[in-house]
Parts: sequence; structure tokens; C-alpha cells
Amino acid sequence: MMKKMNVESFNLDHTKVKAPYVRLVGVTEGANGDKVYKYDIRFKQPNKEHMEMAGLHSLEHLMAENIRNHMDNVLDISPMGCQTGFYLAILNNDSFDEVLVTLEKTLEDVLAADEVPACNEVQCGWAANHSLEGAKEIAKEMLAKKEGWREVF
Ligand SMILES: [Zn+2]
Repeated sequence: MMKKMNVESFNLDHTKVKAPYVRLVGVTEGANGDKVYKYDIRFKQPNKEHMEMAGLHSLEHLMAENIRNHMDNVLDISPMGCQTGFYLAILNNDSFDEVLVTLEKTLEDVLAADEVPACNEVQCGWAANHSLEGAKEIAKEMLAKKEGWREVF
């Protein structure tokens, strides 16, 4: 047995998962009853594949901007450092089905995009590091495997 770690995903056996998938990581309840739902949206099989940085970065911009058109109370959608997935945090919405529908719509927006939002030096920290085509390739593959999103292992 590995030592229990503070970070939930450090306790997840990444050799056992089957990407792509969408997994509820945990629910945090505040003192007033508000709840934050955190998801692990895994695009690539850990330690076998990863997203290339420029496409991942553009996918981040596109999803961050578009997901908020489909769902209220999105707190954050951010890439994992291992480049295999994203974390999504939403407030006071316990519907897993809505998360899946929202993800699908957001990825369809990526396929339809003709530019990456905010990819300039005023609005982004590494504006030269973008690839719309790379983002579309990742989104296309993820959408093609949507039947498996509910299955983590
Ligand atoms: Zn950026």
C-alpha cells in the first residue's frame, strides 16, 4: 500500500484508469452549505500519451471561454501538469449528466472555432505557444470516445 497523500489524485492508481473519462474527484462544502464539485476530465491515457503543449494551451483557452456559455457557476477549468487532462470545478451543481453534456457542447465549440480567444501578449502569459489545429485534434478524439466517458476503470 502506498502512503495516503493529501492530494486526492495522488491516491488514484494511474495505471488502472482507462482514458478518456470524466471522474468526480470530490465535493467540498463550505460553512454556508455551498458545494464545490471538482472533476478530473482525462483526455489521454496516463504515461502512454499526452497532449502537446501548444494544442493543450489553445484547448484551455477555448474551453475556459466557451464552457461558461453552457453552464453557470464554473469556477475553473485548468490543465494538469502531466498534460493528460483537465480539472473542472463548479459551484452548487451536482449533476454529472449536465457536466457531460456541457463538456460535449464545449468540445464542439472547439471544433467550430476559427481562432483561439485571448491568444495575445496582453491576455495570455505565453501567447506564442498556441495551436488551434492541435486543440481541434484533441477535441475531435475526445468527442469520438464520448461513449466511454462514464467509465473510469
Ligand atoms: Zn494562455
